[in-house]
Amino acid sequence: MTTPTDITSIAPRDKAEILAQALPYIRKFHGKTMVIKYGGNAMTDPALQQDFAEDVVLLKLVGINPVVVHGGGPQIETLLKRLGKEGKFIQGMRVTDAETMEVVEWVLGGEVQQDIVGLINQAGGKAVGLTGRDGAMIRARKLRMADQQDPTREHDVGQVGDIESIDPGVVKALQDDAFIPVVSPIGFGENNESYNINADVVAAKLATVLQAEKLLMLTNIRGVLDKNGDLLTELTPREIDALVADGTISGGMIPKIAGALDAAKSGVNAVHIIDGRVPHALLLEVLGNEPFGTMIKS
Ligand code: ADP
Ligand code: MG
Repeated sequence: MTTPTDITSIAPRDKAEILAQALPYIRKFHGKTMVIKYGGNAMTDPALQQDFAEDVVLLKLVGINPVVVHGGGPQIETLLKRLGKEGKFIQGMRVTDAETMEVVEWVLGGEVQQDIVGLINQAGGKAVGLTGRDGAMIRARKLRMADQQDPTREHDVGQVGDIESIDPGVVKALQDDAFIPVVSPIGFGENNESYNINADVVAAKLATVLQAEKLLMLTNIRGVLDKNGDLLTELTPREIDALVADGTISGGMIPKIAGALDAAKSGVNAVHIIDGRVPHALLLEVLGNEPFGTMIKS
């Protein structure tokens, strides 16, 4: 892994060469939308946070339109613990009772969103925080979740939302105006009730309705791993089905891979699950010429 000391020791001539190599990618992606799911360690480590913010600003300045969708599992967990509540998950989804929903709204729509907005602004961008309520963006209903092994059984995960529709109008308006939208995964229902939606699912659906060029999911692992813990660099729908069926893909990777596959099938050109622990993971994927992480094929 490169450290800042390595970078300062690169000769100016080599630096120029590196920048020049990014030109074909900048040209290819100019004016295109990229949806970035920001989660995992990349979101909790201060040095990585700053790298991420810089990458987002750089992409915007070279004419690409980044849209950030953030998660916040660890931050929700911390506040729940302080309140003496324990988080519970079923098939990768957080069981969300009314009190947990309040916490989710405070943490995601407040603290986490505004932290990211602040970091991007500090790096020289103009970020605007939104929840799915803003601009009537994310309409949702209660998720009815079938058991993975026995589809006739259903799990009640409380106020977890299933996306009914996304109106990307507000995101588009901001993009056109040089702003960088930062979206918290909270939806609203028919009776104005709130829903906690898995951020991967929101990112995937938003990428689809925006017909994004890329969907990049930053996570806390190298990508999708096989049974032996080796990285799978490419995955087809059939391979994904098999990995979910035999339990190789579990927990938080389930909604992630499902969202990724949906997006790939719905016209998003490139869908990648990448390691957010790598400094400047975003730039590396978009402007670098070495593939990393797992690419989802349709
Ligand atoms: P994020 O914040 O990125 O959404 P999650 O914890 O929700 O993180 O999902 C990523 C986690 O999924 C990994 O840290 C890992 O523990 C788990 N996981 C389950 N199956 C796999 C797999 N086959 N390959 C990689 N990660 C997996
Ligand atoms: Mg997750």
